[in-house]
Amino acid sequence: MDNKKCPSCGTEVHFDDDVCYACGANVPRSIPWLAYLVGGVIAVALFLGLVDWSYWIDYFSKF
Ligand SMILES: [Zn+2]
Repeated sequence: MDNKKCPSCGTEVHFDDDVCYACGANVPRSIPWLAYLVGGVIAVALFLGLVDWSYWIDYFSKF
């Protein structure tokens, strides 16, 4: 992953750091879209793994 630049003074800041070394400004952590995608897939997988689908299929088949 690449380093990012401080929005205040332009100093290069390590991608894992939130604060600029030179001026102390807050440098927002950049989260790649892939991290959101992987997180979403894991959340859906956990959800599908936790839900007891046979219960819901029985429940809705009564209507
Ligand atoms: Zn700075």
